[in-house]
Amino acid sequence: MKLFMPDRVVFDPPSLRYPLGEKIYGYFQDKDVEVIKAPLQKVAGFIPGTTAGAKYASSKKTLAVTVKKSLKLDVCRPSADFEFSLVTGCPGNCEYCYLYTTQSSKLYLRTYVNLEEIFTSIREHIVKNGNRLTTFEVASAGDPLAIEHITGSLSKTVEFFGELENARLRVVTKFDNVDPLLTLRHNGHTRFRVSINSRYVIDSFEHTTAGFDERIDAASKIADAGYPIGFIVAPIMVYDRWEKEYLELFDRLKRQINTGKSGEPVTFELIQHRFTPAAKKFILERFPNTKLDMEESRRVLKWGKFGRFKYVYPAETASHIKEYIQTLISERFPGAVIEYFT
Ligand code: SF4
Repeated sequence: MKLFMPDRVVFDPPSLRYPLGEKIYGYFQDKDVEVIKAPLQKVAGFIPGTTAGAKYASSKKTLAVTVKKSLKLDVCRPSADFEFSLVTGCPGNCEYCYLYTTQSSKLYLRTYVNLEEIFTSIREHIVKNGNRLTTFEVASAGDPLAIEHITGSLSKTVEFFGELENARLRVVTKFDNVDPLLTLRHNGHTRFRVSINSRYVIDSFEHTTAGFDERIDAASKIADAGYPIGFIVAPIMVYDRWEKEYLELFDRLKRQINTGKSGEPVTFELIQHRFTPAAKKFILERFPNTKLDMEESRRVLKWGKFGRFKYVYPAETASHIKEYIQTLISERFPGAVIEYFT
């Protein structure tokens, strides 16, 4: 897919004291992009748009370059021991993006330039974890690969983890800009997961992300480069031809992905479609013509943490999805690990 280019970039002044901040500043000098120097708190004031929809669209084309202040890492279950961010936000426009509810007031992208401080924090967390093998998720607050051509920070992080004996990095993406990663010294320490789905789901709901074929091509390159490979299949949806289309997906993965190169099993994470009342409200505001099925009467309520609830498929449908997808996987990838179905 075409590489993302923002309409405007706001440099938080402290970011220019770091080599990566300077490098990104240099990158934009010959681009047709508005370059602004202003404190992070003022970014919202530079985002044009008189309606909520226009502001949302402009936010997705705005990049703030800044310094990550809080370096205490959160726990990240079930995916990893801890999570950290190189980037917050994403230029994609998936209708059910989890960022709407977690970052609704700040949908512009932020990238962090104090990589060495972030790396120091990672080392400290490994020590706190008793120097046991510790896993870190880098893509829970945004998609770093989407702007890797601008920052290069994911590549640096992959090589940093390549040298750590007792830490592993986990990346997930819906983008396909993997070429800069193919020759890195990753040492098998980064598990690269591609978020994938049926053609209908990607084409209908995952706007301005890489397409079905592009993502599988990217996954194939990553697997050939010796990275441990995985797939997040989410959100799994039931619609009139869903079984046929998920069959197409797994047949295609089987045909195209060489899972043997890394020596590690291919992993799958399976997440059925769910929505909360708050997410439904955001989605209907931003995508008034959405085809997303959010009819409460066809779902059941599932209570989550802190008294929040979400609508999921009824138990019978959920267990049919689980059995069907697990069978597709085990028939095609006998050594695969299904990490969870939720
Ligand atoms: S790619 Fe991921 S982070 Fe980006 S909009 Fe889609 S769901 Fe959100």
